[in-house]
Order: sequence, then C-alpha cells, then structure tokens
Amino acid sequence: MKNFKDITGRLLIVAIAICMVAGTAVSKAQTGGALTPEKINAALDEAYTKFKDVTEGKNADYIKELARVDPKIFGIALVTADGQVFTKGDITSMVSIQSISKAFVMAQIIEEQGHQAIQDKIGVDATGLKFNSIVAVEEHRGKEINPLVNPGAIAATSLVNGADSAAKWKSILQFQSDFAGRQLSLNVPVYISEAGDNLRNQAIAHLLLAYGRMYFDPAEATDIYTKQCAINVSAKDLAIMGATLANGGVNPVTKKKVVSPQTVMYTLPVMATAGLYDDSGIWFYNSGLPAKSGVGGGIVAVCPGKFGIAVVAPPLDEAGNSVKAQLAIKYIVEKLNANPYLIQPK
Ligand code: GLU
Repeated sequence: MKNFKDITGRLLIVAIAICMVAGTAVSKAQTGGALTPEKINAALDEAYTKFKDVTEGKNADYIKELARVDPKIFGIALVTADGQVFTKGDITSMVSIQSISKAFVMAQIIEEQGHQAIQDKIGVDATGLKFNSIVAVEEHRGKEINPLVNPGAIAATSLVNGADSAAKWKSILQFQSDFAGRQLSLNVPVYISEAGDNLRNQAIAHLLLAYGRMYFDPAEATDIYTKQCAINVSAKDLAIMGATLANGGVNPVTKKKVVSPQTVMYTLPVMATAGLYDDSGIWFYNSGLPAKSGVGGGIVAVCPGKFGIAVVAPPLDEAGNSVKAQLAIKYIVEKLNANPYLIQPK
C-alpha cells in the first residue's frame, strides 16, 4: 500500500511539473517569451538603426540654451527591474532633465507627505491644456491640475520639505540623484538661460498663491523649479530613474530604497494620464506605459515590475515630445511585447 502511495505521489509530482513546463511554454509562445538579454539588445539595435536618420522635429528654443544642444544626440537605455543595463547609441551626452524631473519630485512629495497631500493640495487631473497654461489655473481657481504640468509642478516644488530654498534644492537634487544612482549636477548655462526668462512660470506661481495653492515663496519656488529642470542627465541616468519606479522604489543598480512601493503606485497613474503633454492619451493608447517627457529631449517610460526605458534625442514634435524617443520606445515595447495591457487569455 505504501509503495502504491509513493508511486501515485511521484506520478502526481511529475504530472504537475509537466503541466508547469507546458504552461510556461504556451505562455512564452503567446507573449513572445521572457525578456532575454539577446532580445533586449536586438530590439535596441533595431530601433537605433531604424530611427537614427529621422530628421523630423526641432529643438526647443523658448529656453535659448536648448536650441544650442546637438540635435543629433540619440541614446537609448533600458534597465531591468533586477538591475541589468542595456544601452545603444550616445548615452554619455547630457541634456537637461526639464519636465521629467516633475515625476520624481511628485514621488518625493508623496514619500514625504503622503499621497493625499498631492490630491488635496495640487490635484491629479489632466488639464487637457498646454503644460504651461495659465487658463488651466484660472479655470479651476488653482485646483484640478496635476504635478506634471508647470503650475502643479511649481506647487509640488514649493511643498518639498526644507526650511529654506537652499535646503529644498539640496533635497530635490539628492532625491533625483538617488533615483539615478549617481550624484547628478546642475547644467548652469541652461539654468541661467531659463532663470532670465521665466516670467510666465513666475506669473503662474503668483496666481497659485492668490488662490491659496502655493506653499512657499512663489519667486523662490519658481527659482528652485527652474534649477530642478536644469539637472543634467544621460539616457542611462533616465533609464535607471525609470527602473527604480519599475522596481517599486528601490534603485535596482545601487539597491538603495528611494521611495516606497505605495509612492510608486500613486506616481505612475499620473504619468499615464499626463506624462506627454497634450499627447498623453495617444502615447498611452499606443504604448500602455506610464512615461514622462521633457523639452530637453528625453523621455522615460516605465514597464511596472519589468524595466525602465529612456531615450534622449532633442528634436521635439508640435506637442513638445522628442520625435525619436517616442518612435524608439514604442518600437522596443512592441518588439518585447512589453505593453502591460497585452493580456493572454487563460
Ligand atoms: N523648464 C521648462 C518650463 O518650465 C520645463 C518644460 C518641459 O520640459 O515641459 O517651461
């Protein structure tokens, strides 16, 4: 009797193992398989070759220094949630992070003050208007905006913990550096260029103050915000920042815990709804990935639990998003079957 039980027990284990292997084989066949280094490298190589000669788009020039950046810079980086780094093209050239910093300052505020603070003091609704729209503030008396457009971003910067401007700036730079896994620094010419020409952002900050939605001196908050936008990053830095979100807030390269999984959980949805200016909907529809772009020419996208991907290529389309970055990321996501909404029926 004992032998019989042993045999049936063993058969059962073998049967379960066969089912598991078969199941994996089926799901791999359906989804295109696991993310292997070979597949990732091939996707990056193909995207680079396919899009490197695209000449559409134009550098941002409303910040004068951005017009001088080499429009040929084209770097792609993908960093997995377990810390493997894949790169292609120019990943040493730096561009200013610009609006991409907003997503990480948003995460910082959630980490410091809880997610409700963002919802109550700024808002989490897409405005449907330009990133630097004054009408968006006026329409809802400073409410119903979000931390990824200028008004909400300057309000977020004003909320950062710190007794004075210097402390707030130091803390922002440290958070962004922790996300990137190395000490980032300021692009001084870009900062000076924008600081001398940011009257519109100052107007937005003062209007928010008038509506009781600015939480620090508006001129100083705008200045810190301008600095935060002028932090220098490479495609690799941005991909590691994205991978830290993809990995639930722990930098997968340095292993440092930057923010909590809950903070990431509240950050990604706003990136999904408002990350690419007026084209946020079209981006999300086509990629399924929360992302954030900046007028410096970078875009970072997050595949939750899997990887962060970033491209730096300065020429922008009409909406203000890097042309090549959108093309390359969408191509790679498709090649890797990485859209989280590609669901295989059971
Ligand atoms: N510093 C830029 C501004 O405030 C950021 C714009 C962007 O990247 O969207 O206008």
